[in-house]
Amino acid sequence: MNVDGKCLCGQIEFKADIDPTTTTICHCTDCQINSGTAFGYVVGAVNDSFKLLRGKLSFYVKVADSGAKRELSFCGVCGTRIYARPIDGKSGFLGLRVGAIRQRRILQPKRQAWKKSCLDWVKSIETERTFETQPR
Ligand SMILES: [Zn+2]
Ligand SMILES: [Zn+2]
Repeated sequence: MNVDGKCLCGQIEFKADIDPTTTTICHCTDCQINSGTAFGYVVGAVNDSFKLLRGKLSFYVKVADSGAKRELSFCGVCGTRIYARPIDGKSGFLGLRVGAIRQRRILQPKRQAWKKSCLDWVKSIETERTFETQPR
């Protein structure tokens, strides 16, 4: 499914081909802090389909408990989160932040990750699959 989006200030615009079956709510504590709310919400982009159409991304490299490094991209002007993906040349899940996607209204969550650190008031969200920690 082709989607497009932009950051809050409009400096960044992007497009991507996503797999709508990979919409994932992430309840990990890093996502809670980084999102400024209860959870992160991402969808996987297909292969290398993410294309930056305008603007300049800023990056923060996060080191997971497993030692894996993920590149978190965001707008350096307004702070909108754009995507997270593995670095060090490893291919893997590019999680596009659903909130910045124009078509976000039709993207229903299919999975939940890190349910073990889910905040009490969002425990009633139901999805097809739930993982206590990182999805495998
Ligand atoms: Zn911006
Ligand atoms: Zn997370």
